[in-house]
Amino acid sequence: MPTTVTREQLSSYLDDALDEPEIAQVEQALRQSEPLRRQLRQLLQERDRGEHSVGAIWRRQRLTCISREQLGSYLLGVLESDAKHYVDFHLKTIGCAFCAANLADLKTQQQEAAQQTQKRRRRYFESSAGLLRDRRK
Ligand SMILES: [Zn+2]
Repeated sequence: MPTTVTREQLSSYLDDALDEPEIAQVEQALRQSEPLRRQLRQLLQERDRGEHSVGAIWRRQRLTCISREQLGSYLLGVLESDAKHYVDFHLKTIGCAFCAANLADLKTQQQEAAQQTQKRRRRYFESSAGLLRDRRK
């Protein structure tokens, strides 16, 4: 049976003003209902435009958003499963543009770092392989 979530509940959800069971209920409803997700997105957009009194506060604090540190751990796959689910939900279900942008940026950074490491490894390998050949002569 689909649970019904009111606009007020969604609003409180964004304000982080719900208790745990209610949060779980809202998140479950969001996973199941595309119209509800649309409603949430609309609410987010309205807030971004400052149409709600708490909009400014919300934008300043980004209450439901994920820290860069957590996003980094998410990319490395080292988050606890609860935290990982929340990040997945926040990015994929809510579709937070702010966090998606942050994540894309971190991903680029990590890829660049990985490329550097690979180059370094190859250099080490080649030089040590060269060293071994020299010793065998
Ligand atoms: Zn976010």
